[in-house]
Amino acid sequence: MWLKEDAFFPTDVEFPHSDRTEEEGNNEPEDEKIKGYPNTLLFGSMVHKMCEWMSEEQSAEDVLAHVLAEPMFSELRDYGEEAVRLVRALWQNTEFIAKLKSSKNTKREWSFLAPLSDSVFLEGVVDLLLEDENGAYHLYDYKTNQVKDIDGDFSESIAIIKENYRLQLQWYALAIEKLLNKPVVSAQLVLVRINQIIEIPLSPEELNSAHKEALSLALSMETGQNIADYGKNTGKHCEYCPYRDICLNESERGIPVENHIPT
Ligand code: SF4
Repeated sequence: MWLKEDAFFPTDVEFPHSDRTEEEGNNEPEDEKIKGYPNTLLFGSMVHKMCEWMSEEQSAEDVLAHVLAEPMFSELRDYGEEAVRLVRALWQNTEFIAKLKSSKNTKREWSFLAPLSDSVFLEGVVDLLLEDENGAYHLYDYKTNQVKDIDGDFSESIAIIKENYRLQLQWYALAIEKLLNKPVVSAQLVLVRINQIIEIPLSPEELNSAHKEALSLALSMETGQNIADYGKNTGKHCEYCPYRDICLNESERGIPVENHIPT
């Protein structure tokens, strides 16, 4: 049984043009907002690509030009300025850049397939992996989720995002240790929208529990396949799910087929 990265689709990302609330004048028709969702994912992909390509030798504008030259991102030209702002801010995060510069072995967008047991495999892509002078690894995952603030306080939103992605990073840490045979001593979510880096706990107890959850999830997926019952859990997250067309009936989809995210 393979556990794939698809399990970690974002649940609350929004595209820049939808940032305003209805009260503030965001009166787009409902279907226009829905049409924006594929672009939301694309915007996240563009920022990821820019983070992957950023270096001291290139400005954020240069990197943007390279990224926009890729046909899949050409429709995002109007959002380039926002992407440059986010990536440039991250590149000015001195603590992050110091770690990047001192890495003796750096992997970016590193695809892997790792065994979590004899029969369970995890497939994923590590955004950034740094090896420190002691041979230990530090894992980073870029997230372009909106981080909502309440009177300038992001903590509630950060706590939700952290919990949403905790298992992903813990599973990645387990996979990397297995594949590279070296310890992963830290795992971080890079919240690009607010230029904050959030630590995910990697204690032996946490990793042990995450490992058990992975095996249990794989078992329930296998059982679901065998009896053709996946314990459907419909909700807002279905908007991002690549299996929606085969999973949801027409009334559950709630939006016209032509507006679905291409799979
Ligand atoms: S579309 Fe189906 S498989 Fe996808 S998240 Fe929704 S309920 Fe789960």
